[in-house]
Parts: sequence; structure tokens; C-alpha cells
Amino acid sequence: MTILTINSPTAELQALDAAHHIHPFTHASGLKEKGARIITRAEGCWLQDSEGNRILDAMAGLWCVNVGYGRDELAGVAARQMRDLPFYNTFFQTSHVPAINLAARLAELAPGDLNHVFFANSGSEANDTNLRMVRTYWAEKGEPQRDQIIARWNGYHGSSVGSGSLGGMKGIHAQGGMPIPGIHHIDQPYWYLEGGDMTPEEFGLARARLLEEKILELGQDKVAAFIAEPIQGAGGVIVPPSTYWPEIQRIVDKYGILLIADEVICGFGRTGEWFGSQTMDIRPDIMTVAKGLSSGYQPIGASIVSDAVEAVIGGVEFNHGYTYSGHPVACAVALENLRLLDEEGIVARARDHVAPYLKERFESLTDHPLVGEATIVGLMGSIALTPDKASRAQFAGEAGQAGYICRERCFANNLIMRHVNDRMIISPPLVISHEEIDTLIARAWKSLDEAHATLQEQGLM
Ligand code: PMP
Repeated sequence: MTILTINSPTAELQALDAAHHIHPFTHASGLKEKGARIITRAEGCWLQDSEGNRILDAMAGLWCVNVGYGRDELAGVAARQMRDLPFYNTFFQTSHVPAINLAARLAELAPGDLNHVFFANSGSEANDTNLRMVRTYWAEKGEPQRDQIIARWNGYHGSSVGSGSLGGMKGIHAQGGMPIPGIHHIDQPYWYLEGGDMTPEEFGLARARLLEEKILELGQDKVAAFIAEPIQGAGGVIVPPSTYWPEIQRIVDKYGILLIADEVICGFGRTGEWFGSQTMDIRPDIMTVAKGLSSGYQPIGASIVSDAVEAVIGGVEFNHGYTYSGHPVACAVALENLRLLDEEGIVARARDHVAPYLKERFESLTDHPLVGEATIVGLMGSIALTPDKASRAQFAGEAGQAGYICRERCFANNLIMRHVNDRMIISPPLVISHEEIDTLIARAWKSLDEAHATLQEQGLM
């Protein structure tokens, strides 16, 4: 067969893609009709497609390219590591230098006594590890009945059977027999849509107390762990009211339940600090990390666990692991990525320089007639589309239609924003400049104008 290149005609690339490639989270026949957008190169915050368009990537890929595209240092480290030791496993009492260094660096960066690292290849796998780890922890502590896990509706923790069950996405649960038993979901702290007449603070407390109610309903000696994202990402960048996390921390402390903070999106500078747990001031027993750990240059995830959890897990043979747990190339690239984030001051600059400007500019979108609210922490933000700002109303027709229309306008204007139902999301590379932020906002505004016109034409508002 002919191997296509980035210079091949778009139609040919699309046809071969449609013939053989099954895309994640995609309606295949719809895509085949339309043809995939083919990305060929990237630099900084900019993508290039096979038609030669330059596209501003306000999503950092899938919330992951924190250092931006095109960092030669990472390519160099990967090439060197591939020559020195392309693969060796970390099973059977062996180790290698990249895994050793990366585990130690993560222990140094992670807050509190999160000093031990179990490697995976993705966020989903790391959360599967967590699921088994917390149950094994309690079993080894002599409380095997403590095997129930509480999570949240509209939380996202991955799409494998375990992590998809931890997540609270009904579309995922509907396919493949999920959730698996022993996982329970409580409502999310999404004030804008679900807060009714409560103040955000009242609502935050009420939603946190659902955790206590669920613990008491299940039996306080039955619950192993609570898992949540410090700020929900894939659920729509839902920033919890200020009262939520302190109350959650009080409850997990009171009942001695392990807290798993899923930092797959929030980690590595996304919220302005190294970890969302620091921004939200919580003390997890386990953190899930992936994405920004390598800025997406290599697939890698990890569970970072406390001294106390490791002390118990370390007492048994944990029958768990992936061929590529601690893959040397992925670890070497992640370590170099952490060096760039730190030594180039990318995380510090994101917090002190980028986030304040982005916040001011992003919040100006609330002046647009279609925008009901803007929420942003660090470099993750979202706007709610609404036909009526005052009542926080939803559009006529299906939820998500307005968001989809708006996302399509963004694409047409060479801006990648994502929609979750009728919220529009941004999560740009941490290295985005003020000028690029201005471009982002101008393109978002234009796309909102066009979406507004379409929604009116279609009678959806
Ligand atoms: N947890 C969170 C919070 C995520 O956002 C994601 C991915 N979007 C995952 C877990 C799953 O990670 P992966 O896609 O690498 O399996």
C-alpha cells in the first residue's frame, strides 16, 4: 500500500481514515460523511492542518500540552532514551534510571506526604490502579468490607471499565455494562445549572453534605474512598463554590475515608499552582496524574500516594501493573517536561502573568448576549451559553445543540474550543502570550456572534 504523508491531498487522507480508523468518542458515520480535520504540524499554541490553516489551540490538545507544541528538548530526550534503553519493565525487582528519577521528582513536587508513585500509561489506567489500590489498602488493614467508593455524577475519570465506572457520565455508563458494583455517585457542585435559588455558598455546602449522607446510607465502615476532580474538567469546567471543598475535607477526615484527587487535568500548572489540590486547599491521600505530566509528548499517567497508603500496600504483593508502567522513554520525557515547567518558570508565569490577564479577557465574554457566565481558574475556563442571562435558561431543543453550533463556528474561525453541552471550554497551553489571548477572545467573540445568528435563524432562542 502507499504510505501517505503530511503532504498528501486531504481527500485521500480523509478517505483512508474513514476506511480504517475508528475514532474515540465519535459518531463514525457522521464523521465519514464530513471527513476528519487532519492536523499535520504544531508549534507553540498553533496547529496546522492539511489545508494549510493555522489554528489557535485553546484546548492544549486534550488539556495536556502544557509546555506548548514543538519543544525540541523533549524530542531530544526521547531520541536519546530510545537509543540507551528503549524499553525495560519495572516488574520482577528491576528498575531503571528514568523511572527512579521521575518518581523522586514527583514526590518532591507533590504536596504533603505524597511520596510514592505507581506508573500507568494514562489517566484511565491510573484510576483503575486507584480503585484496586484503595480496596487492597482496606483489606490489608483488616477492613475488607470497606470496599465501596463514592464518586460524582458528571465527574470524569476515564473510559476504561473501572475508571468509566468511577466517572459519572451517563453516556459512558450506557455502553458496556457500567458502572461496576460498589461505586456510588452523588450530585455535583454545579451551581449555575443546579443551584436554583440557593446562594453558591449554600449550594456548595449542600452538595458537599451529600457525601456525608451517602456515607451514612452505605454504612460508615463500608466506604473506602471518595474520588473527585478538584475542578471538574470534562464535565464542563465546573468550579465548585468556595464552601464545597472545605466541607468535603471535613467529612473525609471525620469518617477516615481516603480522598483521591483526580489531577489529570488540574495537575502541572493548569489551575495556577502545581496541583489543583493546592489551589483548592485539600489534602488527598492519592492523586491521579497524566496529561500535563508529559505535556502529552508521551503517554504516561501515575498514582501518587501517601506514606500511610504505601506503608500498607507495600506490605503485600500488589498484583497489578502494566507492561509499560514506568516506560523509560515516557519517564525521561516527563522528567524533562517537569524541568521545563519549573526551570523556565512556566508554572509561575502561568499563575502570575498569564492567568490574571486571561481571566480579565475571558470574563469580558459575559458582555456577549449569548453568555450567561464565565468561570475560570488559572488556565481552565468555561462560558455558559444561554438564551436568557437573567434566568440562566436553557435553549429550546436538545442540550448541547447550541454548544455544538458554537464549536463549529470556532473551528471555522480557526480556533479550537470544546463544548460540553452548552458550555464552551478553554484550556490553552500555559505558554500562551497576551497577544494570543487577545486573538483567542476576538475569535471566540466572532464565533459567538455567528452562533447567535444561527440559533436565532433556527428558532432555538
Ligand atoms: N481523569 C480526568 C480528570 C480526565 O480529564 C481524564 C481525561 N480527560 C482522565 C482521567 C482519563 O485520562 P486518559 O484519557 O489519559 O485515560
